[in-house]
Amino acid sequence: MKRILPAILTSISLPLSLICGSENLVFEQIASLLPTPNEARLATGLPGPDYWQQEANYQIKVELDEANSRISGSETVEYINHSPHTLPYLWVQLDQNTFAQDSKRQRSIQALNFDPDDGKPRELEFRGFRNFIYNQEFEGGYELGSVTDLEGNALPFTVVGTNMRINLEKPLSPEESFSFKVEWSFNLQDEAMSMRHGRRKLKTGDYIYQVAQWYPRMCAYYDQEGWQIKPYIGHGEFALEFGAFEVQITVPEDFVVAATGTLVNAGDVLTSKMRERLKNARTSDQAVMIITEEEAEQNLKRKARGKKTWHFKAEIVRDFAFAGSRGYLWDALGVEVDGETVMAMSLYPSESTPVWKRYSTEAVAQTLRVYSDAVYPYPYPVAWSTWGPIGGMEYPMISFQSSREIEENETYPTGERNYVISVIIHEVGHNWFPMIINNDERQWQWLDEGLNSFMDYRAGNLMDPVVQKSNLLSDRRVIKTMATAGDPIIMTSADNQTSRGFQAYSKPALGLNLLRQSILGPELFDFAFKEYALRWAFKRPTPADFFRTMESASGVDLDWFWRGWFYGNDHVDMQIHGVNLYRLDDGEPSSSKALDEAEEEAIPDTPYELFLKEVGTLADEQSHLQDWYFSYDPYVPTEKELSTYKKTTEKLEDWQKDMFEFGNLAYVISVKNTGGMIMPLVFDIDFKKGESRRLEVPVEVWRFGDEIVKVPFISEREVVKITLDRDNAFADSNLDNNVFPQEIEQGRFKLKPKKPQTNPMQKALFPDADKNEEDKKE
Ligand SMILES: [Zn+2]
Repeated sequence: MKRILPAILTSISLPLSLICGSENLVFEQIASLLPTPNEARLATGLPGPDYWQQEANYQIKVELDEANSRISGSETVEYINHSPHTLPYLWVQLDQNTFAQDSKRQRSIQALNFDPDDGKPRELEFRGFRNFIYNQEFEGGYELGSVTDLEGNALPFTVVGTNMRINLEKPLSPEESFSFKVEWSFNLQDEAMSMRHGRRKLKTGDYIYQVAQWYPRMCAYYDQEGWQIKPYIGHGEFALEFGAFEVQITVPEDFVVAATGTLVNAGDVLTSKMRERLKNARTSDQAVMIITEEEAEQNLKRKARGKKTWHFKAEIVRDFAFAGSRGYLWDALGVEVDGETVMAMSLYPSESTPVWKRYSTEAVAQTLRVYSDAVYPYPYPVAWSTWGPIGGMEYPMISFQSSREIEENETYPTGERNYVISVIIHEVGHNWFPMIINNDERQWQWLDEGLNSFMDYRAGNLMDPVVQKSNLLSDRRVIKTMATAGDPIIMTSADNQTSRGFQAYSKPALGLNLLRQSILGPELFDFAFKEYALRWAFKRPTPADFFRTMESASGVDLDWFWRGWFYGNDHVDMQIHGVNLYRLDDGEPSSSKALDEAEEEAIPDTPYELFLKEVGTLADEQSHLQDWYFSYDPYVPTEKELSTYKKTTEKLEDWQKDMFEFGNLAYVISVKNTGGMIMPLVFDIDFKKGESRRLEVPVEVWRFGDEIVKVPFISEREVVKITLDRDNAFADSNLDNNVFPQEIEQGRFKLKPKKPQTNPMQKALFPDADKNEEDKKE
């Protein structure tokens, strides 16, 4: 699903103290929060000898009815039960039912944009209002035809919202397979709904179609959840099984179609010119136009009446989607991955140029290179980016993106180009998370969105400086949001997230970046992250498998980090609370008492003490009140004290006597954890005469749950300044309290003229008032 920026947060979430039992447990292991490891999912994070997963293979015929904006199809599903369990029934996902008027999604839509304080509506943005009306009126949901076995016998089935249970006459034993047929149709939604697929109108009146979540699919069945029957209500995107697909898509004959998989009848649907250009694109160093702008224009004018069927095949994918239009331009570029050529390709209409023409396929290629290197070599033959009604959505080998219509030579805003580049990288990046590393998104959205955002930032940052700048700003926003009270927790299931941009995308991404750059270092992190991808490619990991793999492969205990960053909502704010300097006192009575006296004298007299000194006492005047205390000086050592010291030191062993030679300065830095989230401490210590040293303290210093930890170090030289986290490496939300001695915080303020009163009476009397205001605008 598309990237979203973190919003201002108001929700209340579980404080860390409740999860930990007590805040002193920041360093306790998170075993109690994770499922117990077993032989299917090992304690090391590896899939174990008992790991299994189901298989679903699909043969589908589908037709797009352009006139009625309707999809109808029939499929044969082969379901292979690799589980050790006998299944009395099968669950099938009917995602389209979420758009039916009686669905949980439709019926639980809340009136948005009402002021929480007075309950009155705020201003509604046009697009949001169109979406609201369309949602209320759209006739969505599946119209199911027959559900039969291969012989055509009707199968008993029960539809429960967005799922359908097929009852089996004979339970399905382990390693047995069951095949069934379904026929269906549904209305395609307009872009107004903006829910992962639909159609978008071009200037010519023609449409672009992006079709997904369109065929009845097997619900995931796995060891941790059993049947994943969570309803499809919006955020929790998919929980799917891997399988092979053979799909025949019938569309108007002048359409070009992009889809999951390899096109197996190119000879029937592509001209020889297009095939020749595709061949050239394989080895070109820049994208080659397969359908040019002029050719797309011709297609739009021609309005052919016949139909054509595009035939695709895909192996080991968990889903299938397609896009098509007669208005598409098409470009392609071969990218070498692991010795194989992958075709990076884009479909977009002329009104999306020039941003798409310049960046789309290049962004796909960048994703293929960066992710293949850092995560797992891209295993499929094609990677599509297609333009249409959807702001950003991912499917195997094909992604849906959008942009506003941009005229040639138009100066478009930074956000527009960044959005195109970043979202294309993000959606193509989903080929790894979750299309290859197949986590259950109905449950944990962050496991794919967070890992993917972490990687898409890297690919984008390494591609384009403008994108880089915007991504770095997003990290700062996360740190700010973390510092607000009650920011929501990452470990929240997909549909219950109150701020998914923050919970599923940007906070996990920043966390992984911290782990890589500041906590583990690239070498340990990259090994572990790749190991996770390798272990779980084409399998279904859970958060526990990720946490355990990252620890066992890096060799570093990270439970404190998972607990604080993923299960908690504390933020990072380390503060230098104070610095103390100590010198060795060897206890020799003369020098030691002189120091006592100096310390005593350093304390200034209070006004009352000064008053007493000035008036004196009765004993000053009457000498008979004076005893020996009047001549006793506690800071002058007595004979007895001197001889005791001498006797004691004489008895010391030589190594003990050597200790008295210690002439260095002993410093203690007190650091207060104001934010709650613990982090390693890195100090830069500046000495007189300009030298400096770095002192690194591991995060384990916090293991006793202290609010303030005291970090000692000794030095020959006098310290003038200490800075904590000078490199801004640990997401500290307030760097101003990281310097000792504290500096004056600097800021700015601006002046602006007061807005004149716009009282209508005044306007009538002084018609020039508005004009004056206009003149003042800068
Ligand atoms: Zn996403």
